[in-house]
Amino acid sequence: MRGMLLLPPLLLRRPRPPPGLRRLCSAGAASAAPAAPGKSETGSQLNIQPTFGFLFDIDGVLVRGKTPIPGARKAFQKLLNSQGEFSVPVVFVTNAGNCLRQKKADQLYHILGVPISQDQVMMSHSPLRMFRRYHDKCVLVSGQGPLLDIAKHVGFCQPITIDRLRENFPLLDMVDHDRRPKVSHPPEVELPKIEAIVLFGEPVRWETNLQLIIDVLLTSGYPGNPYAQATHPHIPVLACNMDLMWMAEAQSPRFGHGTFMVCLENIYKKITGKELKYEALMGKPSELTYHYAEYLIRTQATAKQWKKPIQTLYAIGDNLMTDIYGANLYNRYLQEKNSRRGSKARIQAKAAGGSRSATVSQEEELENTWESELAPATATSCRSVLVCTGVYSPHTEVPSDTRECITETVFHGHRDFRFDPALVEPNHIVPDVEAAVDLIFQLENFAPNENYRTP
Ligand SMILES: [Mg+2]
Repeated sequence: MRGMLLLPPLLLRRPRPPPGLRRLCSAGAASAAPAAPGKSETGSQLNIQPTFGFLFDIDGVLVRGKTPIPGARKAFQKLLNSQGEFSVPVVFVTNAGNCLRQKKADQLYHILGVPISQDQVMMSHSPLRMFRRYHDKCVLVSGQGPLLDIAKHVGFCQPITIDRLRENFPLLDMVDHDRRPKVSHPPEVELPKIEAIVLFGEPVRWETNLQLIIDVLLTSGYPGNPYAQATHPHIPVLACNMDLMWMAEAQSPRFGHGTFMVCLENIYKKITGKELKYEALMGKPSELTYHYAEYLIRTQATAKQWKKPIQTLYAIGDNLMTDIYGANLYNRYLQEKNSRRGSKARIQAKAAGGSRSATVSQEEELENTWESELAPATATSCRSVLVCTGVYSPHTEVPSDTRECITETVFHGHRDFRFDPALVEPNHIVPDVEAAVDLIFQLENFAPNENYRTP
C-alpha cells in the first residue's frame, strides 16, 4: 500500500472510545435511500450544482494491491450523471510518483469502470508544474522509472539523470568496486551547470545517488570540481513523496523515499554541519499538494461552467499521517488565509477612510513562492474523511490523551513537519468509500444521479 506512514506505536497503547463511532453511525444513516428527486428529506430543495469537490486517495480507499475495494465501483457510479459524466469535481491524489498520470488514469479506469482523465490524477510530482522558474534550467533528477519522461511532462526542458552524470564523471561513484571505471582518464563531455536537484522518488542504487547529489550540492552544480568552501545556501532541492515507509506484500513496511531523504539530510549535515534545506516538499501531507489539487478541482468546475465557486473539499483517505494530517493542515491554511484576507480588507477600508496612514504592505502576507503560481483558492475549508478499508482500523487503540504521550512518540513524518495530535483527528470516519460519498452528498444536500438508487 503506497503512501503508508505508521501510526507511532506508542500512540496505540491505551484504549479510548472509538473516536469515530458516533460519526460512523451518522455515515450509516447517510447511506439510507435519499428522498425524492429534487427534495431533501426535510423537504428543502436539493442542490444540483456542486459547491464541493472530492479528493480521493487511491491505495486503501479504492484498491488494495491490485484488488479493487468492494464498494468503490458503486461509489463512482453515484458520482456520474445520466450522461456518464462526473456530476462533481473529482481528483485522485496519490503519493505514488514513478509513472505518468495517464498510466494511473488507465489503471483507475480498470478499477472503477468509469472513464478517468489524466487531468483528474495528481501524482506526488504533479505540483512541480508550478515551479516554472526551474523549467528552462538544467536540473538533476533522482528516482526510478521513466524519469526523463516524467520530468519533461511536468515542464523541465533540461533534466539530467544520475546515470548521465555518472557516465560523464566516472570517477565520482566509487562505492561498488565492480562499477569503478576501467580507464584512468575517461573523457568528459562538458555539461551545463546544474541549477537545481529534483528528488522524484527512491532510486535503485542509493549509494550512487547519495554520492552524486552530495557532490552537486557541495560544488554548486559543478560535480567535476573540488568541493567549494562556501556552498551554503546550496542550490535548490525540490522533493516529492516524503513517505518514510510503505506497505507492500511483506509482513513489515518497506523503505520509502522518505528514508532516502533521511540519509541525504544526515549525510549533508554530517559533512557540512548545516541543515539541508528544501525549496519545496510535495506529496501528501504538504499544503502545496492540496493547493494544487484545489486548483485541479476548480479547473474542472470552470470547464463545466458551474457558476458557484467550489467552497468545500472532502479529502477521503485511509492514512491518518498522510491523508488526514494533510487535509487538516490544508484546512488550517485555508482558515488562516481567509482570516488574513479579512484583516487585510479591514486595513484597506480603514486606510481608504483616512483614519490613519495604514499601509497594506505592513500587513502584506509572506506568500510562499508556489502560492503566486496559481489563482487564490476559492475553497474555504477542507474536510478529512477516514475510511476503514486500508491502513486505519477502527479497532486500533488510540490514547485517551494524545498530548500526554507526545514526548514519547516516534513520529514518522518528515523532519520539516511537526507532529500535532489535532491534525490526525479526522472530521468523519466511515466504513468505506461508498459510505463516504453517501455522507458527503447528505452533508451537502446534493442531488446525485438518480441511476444509483436502482440497485
Ligand atoms: Mg492510502
